[in-house]
Amino acid sequence: MPAAVDQCPQGHDTQTASDRDAQGHCRKCKAERERRRRVSTAMKLTLIKAFEDVGVRFEDDDGRPVAPTDVVRQLVEIYQQ
Ligand SMILES: [Zn+2]
Repeated sequence: MPAAVDQCPQGHDTQTASDRDAQGHCRKCKAERERRRRVSTAMKLTLIKAFEDVGVRFEDDDGRPVAPTDVVRQLVEIYQQ
């Protein structure tokens, strides 16, 4: 049996309660959240450019324009799952 180790809600090992914030998330969670935000921004710019370069138009099923950021936001959510 491995020694019992405190973990945050995301399963990161934490040494002491002071490693975690009021929501129980640790420093690794915080770092990962910030990294995901940076990735999201980079992905948004890269994807919009890539779609536009190949002539993709952002429209819903009824042909109405959809903001590229809405499309990208959904892509990012899928990517992060
Ligand atoms: Zn964590």
